[in-house]
Amino acid sequence: MHSTRRKFTRSALLATAGGMLLPPSLWAKTATYEVRKGDTLGKIAIGLNTSISELKRANNLSSDLIQVGQKLTIPAGGNTNIAATSHITMRTYIVVKGDTLGKIAQRHAISIRELKAANNLSRDLILVGQNLRIPGNAFTQAAPAYDFLAQVRAGTAGIKVQRDKWQRIVVHHSAIKYGNVKKYDAAHRRRGMQNGLAYHFLIGNGIDSGDGEIEIGPRWQKQQLGGHVKNHLINQTAIGICLIGNFEKTHPSKKQLAAFTQLMDWLQGVALGKKVHFAGHRELKGEQTVCPGKHFPLTLMHARYD
Ligand SMILES: [Zn+2]
Repeated sequence: MHSTRRKFTRSALLATAGGMLLPPSLWAKTATYEVRKGDTLGKIAIGLNTSISELKRANNLSSDLIQVGQKLTIPAGGNTNIAATSHITMRTYIVVKGDTLGKIAQRHAISIRELKAANNLSRDLILVGQNLRIPGNAFTQAAPAYDFLAQVRAGTAGIKVQRDKWQRIVVHHSAIKYGNVKKYDAAHRRRGMQNGLAYHFLIGNGIDSGDGEIEIGPRWQKQQLGGHVKNHLINQTAIGICLIGNFEKTHPSKKQLAAFTQLMDWLQGVALGKKVHFAGHRELKGEQTVCPGKHFPLTLMHARYD
């Protein structure tokens, strides 16, 4: 078709201008995306790591209307590996006073670029009352329908969170597959910890508490220092989150990881209202431990939370 050829030529030129010098055969093969059921331009733009406006420009689209089976040219510099695109779900968020794109993006564990692409924003300006589309992230996708925070919100409602005190969050595994707040609290008291459970939060694996269930420990309720690392100074400023399981042997469940990211996002975005330092237990100076285990996706979490 004549128009297709024109589009192809145009995008090939754009690709060259953008510094991508792919041989034409390869470019032709990787440079289009076929619209699938449930797709929107916003979703596709996120999957392609581009913006709606760039996508429209590359395809000479005058409206946001697309059809299943339609082939779209991927703009220059766009990501051509978009297997995950069709799984992206959108939520709605209403802008409140004090919000910035950065804050909203952080709270939902997505990038500002993703947020702008999903809403076709060319500038950083947002208005109170404005509706924004929030694309899901890789972890909330694992259990998109479930809110793991209900118990945490309810349990924190009556607490005055000491925002100045908490400077970091340390993640642990429990190194055994059994346990919940009640059991570990009793065990830690037996070991001479008068404040009980050394961690502030436990995330269950479906054995002695729910899979992905977030339990609050007494130290969070009383805003007391943790007992989860060796260094006393770090214990004074570090919130301890422990996922139940031995992640040297097994992997954390999808629900545990979804719950963990929801908790991290809620702690920083809501409870503390600030970004804090994030570490795996073994990364702290002076520790000789494998915690939180080789199967905990620490690198991935650093990419998200550093
Ligand atoms: Zn640990």
